[in-house]
Amino acid sequence: MHFTLPDRNARGRAVRLGPVLDTILAAHSYPAPVKHLLAQALAITALLGTLLKDKEGQLTLQAQTQDGVIDLLVCDYRNGELRGYVRHDRARLDELGPNPSLFSLFGDGYLAITFDLGSTGERYQGVVPLEGESLAEACEQYFLQSEQIPTLIRVAVQHGPDGCTAGALLLQHLPDGEEGRERLHVQLDHPEWEHVSILAGSISEEELLDPALDLESMVWRLFHEEREVRVHSGRVLTRGCRCTVDHYRDILSRFAASERAEMEDENGQILVDCSFCSRQFAIEID
Ligand SMILES: [Zn+2]
Repeated sequence: MHFTLPDRNARGRAVRLGPVLDTILAAHSYPAPVKHLLAQALAITALLGTLLKDKEGQLTLQAQTQDGVIDLLVCDYRNGELRGYVRHDRARLDELGPNPSLFSLFGDGYLAITFDLGSTGERYQGVVPLEGESLAEACEQYFLQSEQIPTLIRVAVQHGPDGCTAGALLLQHLPDGEEGRERLHVQLDHPEWEHVSILAGSISEEELLDPALDLESMVWRLFHEEREVRVHSGRVLTRGCRCTVDHYRDILSRFAASERAEMEDENGQILVDCSFCSRQFAIEID
């Protein structure tokens, strides 16, 4: 769901994720802290993905580190489809207890966010240290450092008997307009931003998750004293993966025949795993 506060030069996004999270999380048997982290990452990816204007555009969020307990977390969004997975060291994770900090999970990691703009072929990537209390905080830093856009992100995740749900809110201040990417300085104490970020920051985890509170009402509750709030309703997000036999055949056909021969098993097939959905494909190339 999109909204803008025209008088304050602010734009926002709000998402709620339900069954799509369970579908993505079910691809691997993740321990609880990893499930929680991946659900947060997927909610943030959905928020950032809906900033793309182009239907063919793709947003990729990747957190990575050399020898962390989690060495890779990757999520992407394209045209209403989400996917993601986490690679981690189970034995070391178990030693961390039930509520590991971001630092204990990743150590000295970094966060890369990539906007592929689709039809124009343009690509923006920014990398920031993976610091702060949460992934949301690290993403706020990304926008501040790489894009010079004051940004607030709030995420709540709940694991209930009926599955996992997440709610998330993003607010950004764009005093120079949405289009200009060259921003010379960031003014975090701009009165417009101070005002709206305090309002948005007052949101509670309960409000982010409450199924009885639809997103429009949630935004209205936060900003009801503003002169104008423009709201555009969003779409339903689904789990999507690009793993098809054709896709892998296309990738493998770019390898030299001798290299492919080394990858083949005794049946002349090459086995390829999709990490996003834990499916295996047997590819044959003549
Ligand atoms: Zn897949």
